[in-house]
Amino acid sequence: MKWAVVGASTIAAEWMIPAIRSQGDEVVAILSSSESRGLDYASQHLIANAYTDLATLLAEQKPDAVYISTTNELHRDQCIQAAQAGVHVLCEKPLALNLDDAVAMVRACEDAGVVMATNHHLRHAITHQALREQIASGAVGTPSAARVFHAVSLPEHLRGWRINKADAGGGVVLDITVHNADTLAFILGEYPLSVMAMTQNTGMGEGIEDGAMSVWRFPSGLLAYTHESFATPFADTGLEVHGDQGSLVAKGVMTQQPTGDVWLRNGEGRMRLPLDHHNLYEEGVSQFRQAIFSGSHPAADGWAGVRSLAVALAVLASARSGKEEVVDYGA
Ligand code: NDP
Repeated sequence: MKWAVVGASTIAAEWMIPAIRSQGDEVVAILSSSESRGLDYASQHLIANAYTDLATLLAEQKPDAVYISTTNELHRDQCIQAAQAGVHVLCEKPLALNLDDAVAMVRACEDAGVVMATNHHLRHAITHQALREQIASGAVGTPSAARVFHAVSLPEHLRGWRINKADAGGGVVLDITVHNADTLAFILGEYPLSVMAMTQNTGMGEGIEDGAMSVWRFPSGLLAYTHESFATPFADTGLEVHGDQGSLVAKGVMTQQPTGDVWLRNGEGRMRLPLDHHNLYEEGVSQFRQAIFSGSHPAADGWAGVRSLAVALAVLASARSGKEEVVDYGA
């Protein structure tokens, strides 16, 4: 299968181009807004063609799929343009800066009959899959609480638009809270009804929040607490789910790396679950391809991207209003 990579980005270089190639697929072109950056990127990553115009790329290269990892304000138009050219779309999170744009992207893909997936890689972690299976099998009884620790140190080389460009979708909430929303929904099988949040700026963010904490209320009555930060270099990541029969505790799992451990604690003691880790991004590309070739469903489809964005937008709204905000999932 032929792919075009839309955006000369770090995530494409570090994870997604290797993941695409791991499936035997070819990256035929890169799109960059800068001709020189595009050519440099193409040469560095052995991509035969570089473009600065998406329409020309699509017309000349006729890719089967695009992987979109430009800054967030650009995802909408690029996704819709690719869909209208009949090209399948794997798009980065957050899908867009507002719900209407994200819904328009999904609808454009549906209208064009192409597969759309959101690159919520954490669904592909064996750790989160184990958490989901344990909860579904009743290992903790009825879950009543969850906690997500997703506070990290934003690497120096990524301290650009994420901390200084609100109109590109900067800020820790659009960057990380969307992942927490998607991961909790994947594990628990439900999305929050409402959220109550506070954000902070510790000095890394230049006029944008670089930390957030919030409490989410789920339809089942479960409460979840989440912490996101760009500015906590010594924090560990983790996820916990507590029920009346047991607790699941996962450490080192909110990450790009295939790492981390999951423990089940109950009346019989504390047991570490046996896990066989695999590359999260390769698994995501593999499932996206299966959706194209065999009509299966991508793990995180376009609607999953809409819903995770809806939760993040509610978190931002609550931080502004100081009130519990109902999550508006749109259509
Ligand atoms: P980058 O900052 O690396 O790249 C984003 C854009 O910035 C590129 O498309 C490029 O524009 C421009 N750019 C990159 N390097 C330079 C440079 N040296 N000078 C000037 N401009 C440059 O972003 P990320 O890779 O961190 O993130 C891209 C997208 O992927 C975002 O939507 C983000 O949320 C998402 N993401 C998802 C992850 C996941 O695990 N699912 C992990 C990390 C990011 P151009 O294309 O015009 O050259």
